[in-house]
Amino acid sequence: MALTDGIVPDNPKMEGKQNLFRVAIVGGGIAGLILGQLLSNCPEIEAHVYERNSESEDRLAGYRIQLSLETLQQLQSHLPRETWNKVLPSIGKTPKEGYYHSCFMRPDGHIFYTYLPDEFRSTAAVSRLRLRRGLLHGSSSFLRLGKKFSEYEELEDGSVKVHFADGSSCICDLLIGADGISSRVRRQLLPHIKTVQTDVAIIYFKVPYTREVESMIPYKTGSLVLYPNGQEITIMTWQNPDQPYARGLDPEHIGPETSYVMLGFGSRLESFVNPKSPTEMSPQELKSECIMRVHGHPTHPSVKALVELIVTDSCYMNIFRMVDVPSSWDSGHITLAGDAAFNMAPFLGKGAACAMMDAVDLAQTVVRLPRATVHERQVMLRRYVDVMRTRRLKERKRSAFVMNICFFGTTPLRAALRDYGMQVANYWLTSSVSVKILVAVGMFIFLFCGGSLGEFLAKIGRHVENMAIRGPTMAV
Ligand SMILES: Cc1cc2nc3c(=O)[nH]c(=O)nc-3n(C[C@H](O)[C@H](O)[C@H](O)COP(=O)(O)OP(=O)(O)OC[C@H]3O[C@@H](n4cnc5c(N)ncnc54)[C@H](O)[C@@H]3O)c2cc1C
Repeated sequence: MALTDGIVPDNPKMEGKQNLFRVAIVGGGIAGLILGQLLSNCPEIEAHVYERNSESEDRLAGYRIQLSLETLQQLQSHLPRETWNKVLPSIGKTPKEGYYHSCFMRPDGHIFYTYLPDEFRSTAAVSRLRLRRGLLHGSSSFLRLGKKFSEYEELEDGSVKVHFADGSSCICDLLIGADGISSRVRRQLLPHIKTVQTDVAIIYFKVPYTREVESMIPYKTGSLVLYPNGQEITIMTWQNPDQPYARGLDPEHIGPETSYVMLGFGSRLESFVNPKSPTEMSPQELKSECIMRVHGHPTHPSVKALVELIVTDSCYMNIFRMVDVPSSWDSGHITLAGDAAFNMAPFLGKGAACAMMDAVDLAQTVVRLPRATVHERQVMLRRYVDVMRTRRLKERKRSAFVMNICFFGTTPLRAALRDYGMQVANYWLTSSVSVKILVAVGMFIFLFCGGSLGEFLAKIGRHVENMAIRGPTMAV
């Protein structure tokens, strides 16, 4: 379905540019490029994306993102067919299991919790590099590189003047801030919203996905190794559908198209072994930091071997920042999309998916603005903000919950509480109704009747529980 279905233009683009509804999109990341793709061919609209970088490749392009099939279907139905065909090769080879899911394990390889919500059954690993290349297809008509937004000015006639750092400016009817977590558009629109630097740092590395490496991955579709000192390792894969196995193991370099295992080493700043600030550490020092971590604690030999193989030039370090969640705002000519609105924790991989959904929803709103009155525009944009905000907030809470679980175990006692708590929760969620009733009756007797019968039944309950929750241990 095309975005403009049902909208018949009186004045197609060729007949007089002055009648077009002018949209300026700041930021050529995921949200900005999708908006550019969706709006640039709409009748009645003239849309441009202004990106501060003068090159189209971004720093993170080499990593993967996890997207639901629903999100991908949305893109397929709205993007121009040729662009979609270029995006398609970004989708990694589906694992043998047919779906992705995550397991939580202790460093010794003991799997104590597996996580497979319904949405994980239908997701795909997507290469950011290939996704970006796909979204750049045909972008020369709408993308302006080397244009750093500095500020905007609201003019008396209701239009917006957008200023760039190079001294140039443009005038538009709608300004969209899709300029990421440090959004300057947001800082001017919602100056009270703060960005807080957390003390959580994640160091990312890749390992080439060879057959040998495949045998070392704890759980083929995703693992979180949780240490009892607040450190964790996230292990996820992306297999190039054209060449699922890498050709060799070079410790220094990996090509952007090579299939890989992504390892994310998360910890609080205080848990770093190297006393230097992580922002000052070289890729080699960050690599040594990761290797020292797995040698500093009893770790399963396969995980250790995998970490030894991390490739130096794939390094990316991120100290996590969190943007306050703004209340909805009312503006008929300035809005935000993607991380510019507010971000989420890098767990569960929801940031990119939300940026895409924001872009699709916003484009659907924008195509209706040229024919709307000033008041109607404000109402329609407010509706978009409410829906976008609700969706992002839900995903932010979920990803923060997983992050808190990972970093809760700062001492062996807290780690044990976390691990056993998750084990019990897992047992409760996956056990049959009859087992649940048995445990509930046992607890009731123990709590309210006390005495030897209660203790006896509770012991039976614990025994049944132990039998059921003794999770598998990863094979050596
Ligand atoms: C290390 C890391 C790993 C991640 N992994 C995942 C994952 O696995 N799955 C997932 O779903 N999400 C992931 N995310 C989150 C995801 O990358 C973001 O949520 C997503 O990129 C947001 O898209 P966006 O378009 O809103 O912003 P961005 O992709 O950040 O794009 C913003 C763009 O705006 C440009 N810009 C900024 N300021 C200006 C300015 N003043 N003028 C002009 N242009 C400007 C920037 O150069 C950039 O191109 C990860 C994030 C990080 C940091």
